[in-house]
Amino acid sequence: MTRVYNFSAGPAVLPVPVLEQAAAEMLDYQGTGMSVMEMSHRSKTFQNIIDTAEADLRDLMGIPENYKVLFVQGGATTQFAAIPMNLMKNGVADYIVSGSWSKKAFKEAKMYGTANCLASSEDETFSYVPDVDAIKVSEDADYLYICQNETIYGTVYHKLPETGDVPLVADVSSCFLSEPIDVSKYGVIYGGVQKNVGPAGLAIVIAREDLIREDVLEYTPTLLRWKTMADAGSMYNTPACYTIYICGLVFKWLKEQGGLEGIGKRNREKAALLYDFLDQSKLFSGTARKEDRSIMNVPFVTGDADLDAKFIAEAAEHNIANIKGHRSVGGMRASIYNAMPREGVEALVAFMEQFEKENA
Ligand SMILES: *Cc1c(COP(=O)(O)O)cnc(C)c1O
Repeated sequence: MTRVYNFSAGPAVLPVPVLEQAAAEMLDYQGTGMSVMEMSHRSKTFQNIIDTAEADLRDLMGIPENYKVLFVQGGATTQFAAIPMNLMKNGVADYIVSGSWSKKAFKEAKMYGTANCLASSEDETFSYVPDVDAIKVSEDADYLYICQNETIYGTVYHKLPETGDVPLVADVSSCFLSEPIDVSKYGVIYGGVQKNVGPAGLAIVIAREDLIREDVLEYTPTLLRWKTMADAGSMYNTPACYTIYICGLVFKWLKEQGGLEGIGKRNREKAALLYDFLDQSKLFSGTARKEDRSIMNVPFVTGDADLDAKFIAEAAEHNIANIKGHRSVGGMRASIYNAMPREGVEALVAFMEQFEKENA
């Protein structure tokens, strides 16, 4: 068996100890004589799995008491609609468009009310994050929306916009649990888990209690009402049981890594290895503006599409998988999530060095 260094943007690499534990518990989860994917979500055993997962997540992120944690289906994309439906009391929302994901969310919001684009970086292929100091939220805005880490373009907000009393809503899909975060600065934090947390099939919504309301847009489907999910402990219907179980194992693993402080430090070190190489390379260059670079997704190019293709093909022979950039931008992208070991980044940098010598 060979494990490759998997740089996929998502679904993505998971920690080996988590996969091993899941394998060991596959046929008989803790003496139940069945796997977690075979048991009732109404069983005591599963209730314990979801409760423990939530408690560990709260612990890791330091989620305040007045925030609810919801485990929902439909990925992050379903929340593009659920957010305006649940929050558009005045029918107005502000958006910052810093990449494909915030652009999609903005487009979706326009279906449900007035969505204002306060700033966009599309003029330079989303290679930077708009200046948050220049942001002035609309007086009647129900929320300001950002995508904190744009997975495709490899940019991240190092500073959050000041929104006063207007709740800040952030899509953190690709930077979930990558470093410490002050939850109290946000109204709603949410993300699909398949980037940095677990298998596909689940989004986690962390919402301040006063934003979980009865008076949502009237046509909001039952299942998209955060209130429904909050009142039912995320089990109004059958949840993504197995995915929640794996996320729970990942939360335990993160605690063993020193929590978000510990993993954040390692993530910054891994990213520095790659960026330091890119900054001195004569062949490769990073495409995101230096001040806005993500420590999770690192897009880069040679400047020559044929050479990029050659790099991607040869990388596969060095156990470097899924290094191709998103189809919308081309080039390469290394997603170096929590579970990517430092050795994986070292192997990538070593191969890039070799490739540069051979193709100078
Ligand atoms: C992948 C991704 C999404 C979409 O997630 P789905 O779960 O596939 O809907 C949304 N936002 C960001 C930032 C992403 O990286």
